[in-house]
Amino acid sequence: MTKYDVLQQYYGYHSFREGQEVLIDHILEGKDALGIMPTGAGKSVCYQVPALLLPGITLVISPLISLMKDQVQSLNQAGVHAAYINSSLTENQIAKALTLAGQGQYKIIYVAPERLETERFLHFAKSVEISMVAVDEAHCISQWGQDFRPSYLNIVQFVKKLPKRPILSAFTATATGEVKEDIICVLGLENPKTLVTGFDRQNLFFAVEHVKSRTRYLQHYVADREKESGIIYCATRKNVEKVYETLCSEGIAVTKYHAGLSSEERQRNQDDFIYDRKPVIVATNAFGMGIDKSNVRYVLHYNMPQSMENYYQEAGRAGRDGEASDCILLYSAQDIMINRFLLENKEVNPNFTEEECMTIRERDEQRLQTMNFYCNTKECLRAYILRYFGEKNKGACGKCGNCQKHYVEKDMTNEAKQIIRCLGDLHERYGINVVVGTLLGGKSAKLREYRVERYPSYAALHKLREQEIKDLIGQMIQDGYLKQTKDKYALLQTTGKAQDIMDDLCTVTVKMEPKSSQIAKEDDRIKGTGKRRSDILNTRGLEFFDILRGLRTHIAREESLPPYLVFSDKTLVDMCVRLPMNRTEMMEVNGMGAYKFEKYGERFLECILENTGGIREKFYFGEMEEILGRKR
Ligand code: ADP
Ligand code: ZN
Repeated sequence: MTKYDVLQQYYGYHSFREGQEVLIDHILEGKDALGIMPTGAGKSVCYQVPALLLPGITLVISPLISLMKDQVQSLNQAGVHAAYINSSLTENQIAKALTLAGQGQYKIIYVAPERLETERFLHFAKSVEISMVAVDEAHCISQWGQDFRPSYLNIVQFVKKLPKRPILSAFTATATGEVKEDIICVLGLENPKTLVTGFDRQNLFFAVEHVKSRTRYLQHYVADREKESGIIYCATRKNVEKVYETLCSEGIAVTKYHAGLSSEERQRNQDDFIYDRKPVIVATNAFGMGIDKSNVRYVLHYNMPQSMENYYQEAGRAGRDGEASDCILLYSAQDIMINRFLLENKEVNPNFTEEECMTIRERDEQRLQTMNFYCNTKECLRAYILRYFGEKNKGACGKCGNCQKHYVEKDMTNEAKQIIRCLGDLHERYGINVVVGTLLGGKSAKLREYRVERYPSYAALHKLREQEIKDLIGQMIQDGYLKQTKDKYALLQTTGKAQDIMDDLCTVTVKMEPKSSQIAKEDDRIKGTGKRRSDILNTRGLEFFDILRGLRTHIAREESLPPYLVFSDKTLVDMCVRLPMNRTEMMEVNGMGAYKFEKYGERFLECILENTGGIREKFYFGEMEEILGRKR
């Protein structure tokens, strides 16, 4: 068998994605590998395909029980013998699994890092051939990351104890340089092939909405997508409860998840979501790690997250199947306060020194600022994200929320000069609020105490609105004319470049929303989101998609599986477009592996024949070639 046969037979895919092949080839040559790819890029394929081709067993180290279960179910669904060993099994079940594994029943075994320390497991591992140890969520090994797991350090000891060093491969979605270095160094990867794939997720639509009522926006948005699956993230438990109640009262099939619920209730709610019994979930960021649900069509952030890393990871849970999905952030200025409060009360590792704690706090604050700028930028959101993750020279994407808004450019060089003068007047000793207050000619007690009315810049920009001045300052920070200090008070200061503005060597322009568009705003935006499946399927096609979805739900109930483990949305859409009428045609469908066909193929063929009478109607817009080409 070749790697292509494996991909076709077990996964039903016709080609590898960017990066997958490079890593797989490298591993098959017996070398270590490190894959840094965003959520949904297809990391599992990178270690599972070689695992099926290498002579011995592959151990996959994974931090979460739910993640292991999902992956193993998904492999079994594809006809691969795989198992997991973790604390959710009884001692008897573990013994049985290890016996079967010893007999060579499983090519792939998922284990929790804690398990590696146990005598019994080590004994087993020494008695069989381990071809590879694949470390999933490898950033958990880094002390700097937000998800440090001390038990990940066991991996190194464990590997050393094996009679023959296996191939080591590691995978993560966290791209920062420190974390990458940590993984290579701590895990002891030897000259690893390191692959960082593009962080771009073409099928995701990004938007930030500054709306008057977030609740109203949410109600409309969710009601508009009745049968679709979505996650709504909130910063606090209280908000989760509030949003949950609102949606419930609207009659939406919704559930909730946060650390305040009992573990039984969390498990039950999570299952309701995964099995599509309740397609919408309102949750804190405690939810999501280890959720592989591929048909999440939108991720809405009711509150701003604490960092771009968090945001991209959470938003990235949309559209894992490659279908068009929305990532929308509802902005409110007070969110930055909530987050600052949460960060200040965050638990820190008690082993850290005072200095290390300071460093972490500073980083947190900086990350929060970057997140805030994302919410307020008028530039392309996709380009902003990609630049943050280290991809240079990204132009505007033309299809995110900001690219679709038609801003007008306004020259604000004179106003920028006033800001710089004001900073001079204030000796750069204050934060943004005092600066803005001074420029507006404010009369608050604090401003009076600082006696700012004595400065020439006092009230110099009284004709602007507060937000306009803040936007301009934000723009000047992004352009590198101003900076904020990293201490608690975040003083606003000029950089060396600011003099260029005063010397008329450059201009400052700001994008503004045209006045007329502000009136239609609220309603427009609710509809004006990204591409939807309805872009491809016409009305009849959507009806047919619902029929197929019904059959999928039916089968999933019979087998007690989450529906997306029967077939992904993408596979169903592909069926609607191709309308396969026989086995050969069915095997062409994206995601239709040989084993899956044996299990479900006939039933779907029957359903298609019954509903179309064998007549191939056109269920989509545009040309078939173009659609199939685009979706690969
Ligand atoms: P990650 O672990 O990187 O978040 P997954 O491994 O869960 O991503 O893959 C995300 C989705 O992409 C899955 O539904 C997977 O089956 C699909 N996928 C992976 N590789 C391919 C491929 N070569 N062609 C089509 N779909 C793929
Ligand atoms: Zn864009």
